[in-house]
Amino acid sequence: MAGNGLHRCFPDLNNMFDVNRIEFFEQVETPFYFYDMDLLRSTVEKVAALSAEYGITVHYAVKANVERRILEYISSMGFGADCVSGNEVMHACSCRFPAEKIVFAGVGKSDREIAEAIKAGVGMFNCESLQEIFVVNAMAGRFGKRVNVSIRVNPGVDAHTHRYITTGTYENKFGISDHEFSAAVEMIKRCGNIDFAGLHFHIGSQITDVEEVFALECARANEIVDWFEGQGLKVDNVNLGGGLGVDYEDPDGNPVADFATWFRVVSGGIHRREGRKIHIEPGRSMVAQCASLISRVLFVKTGETKNFLILDAGMNDLIRPALYGAFHKIENISAILRPNLPQSQVYDVVGPVCESSDVWGAGRLLPLSVRGDLMAIRSTGAYGQVMSSRYNLRDFAPAVYSDDMHGAHLRTEYFDNLNN
Ligand SMILES: *Cc1c(COP(=O)(O)O)cnc(C)c1O
Repeated sequence: MAGNGLHRCFPDLNNMFDVNRIEFFEQVETPFYFYDMDLLRSTVEKVAALSAEYGITVHYAVKANVERRILEYISSMGFGADCVSGNEVMHACSCRFPAEKIVFAGVGKSDREIAEAIKAGVGMFNCESLQEIFVVNAMAGRFGKRVNVSIRVNPGVDAHTHRYITTGTYENKFGISDHEFSAAVEMIKRCGNIDFAGLHFHIGSQITDVEEVFALECARANEIVDWFEGQGLKVDNVNLGGGLGVDYEDPDGNPVADFATWFRVVSGGIHRREGRKIHIEPGRSMVAQCASLISRVLFVKTGETKNFLILDAGMNDLIRPALYGAFHKIENISAILRPNLPQSQVYDVVGPVCESSDVWGAGRLLPLSVRGDLMAIRSTGAYGQVMSSRYNLRDFAPAVYSDDMHGAHLRTEYFDNLNN
């Protein structure tokens, strides 16, 4: 094997996995999600510092990861929450996000969800259709409450120029498009139980072209904000959604997303004035890099043309590769403990689920791997555990937190607790 290849496929010790962690993992039943809480804290602290520096309000998009420990930490840092279901609203409340810092978004809110969110006293509804504004107003009247309503606007940004933008174009289910703006203004003015709060834009996810794409979004947002103000509706809140991308190819090289550029572009891009607040709602970028799905090689299968590594983690634990064709870096972390065996091999790494789409990665160059090796599927903190299922009646992979790994006596304790 070329030295080049070896360099790429052998993990080093300066990343998420040191000898202590790997030895700890050896004693835990796989698969499980490992959360590096130090990385989570440095990421969240970075966002908190930028939020203060630029005066931009941050709501964490709860749908990316709903683990209680993570939410309680994020709420303790003063962030608000962006929720897209009634259960997310209730869960955010129970994880100590103050109700007034919760925004309730989502294209299909049921009557029950609307009623519960009004009773919980959420800070704002983001409405995505005229009919929804009407229903929220009626429901508010029934409970004798006033409700803050922002409308989600479809900025009509061209998907073809930016392939990552998947939600901001005219023809999709999200938001209100410009042919309905006048009707929306009429509707809001007629609704006596709602206070118009502002406009919400969200153009898509995993955007890596930060400078260009968010500048475009801001420019379009400014035009739309000015139009609404021209109609006599004060736009005191401009919410630019989430969407900041993370580096799935090189999680150790870029463990923290480029928040600095994002804040700078948004802050400089949106027209600010007295009394206007700017909001963003990062989901993926807050939590993706802090977790790895830890799995074990069950079997090594040598074929005529291909070698397969069959892992004990499957698409039910992490559906992103099967659902979106998403790339996740795969590492053999047991190989870190045997650096004097530097052979490598190309493998198709697959899961155990009875679906041919249950593939972690085809043609991956990895250290020579054997049954029992621990494998880390990286960058799985966002849209990972939260999208898992019990398909094939497999168990849910539990969460293991780096904070719980102090001292040998804790290891067995931790394992016992996991089994309860
Ligand atoms: C999903 C979502 C987000 C978070 O998006 P990320 O790409 O995970 O940062 C923010 N706002 C809204 C309205 C969303 O639906």
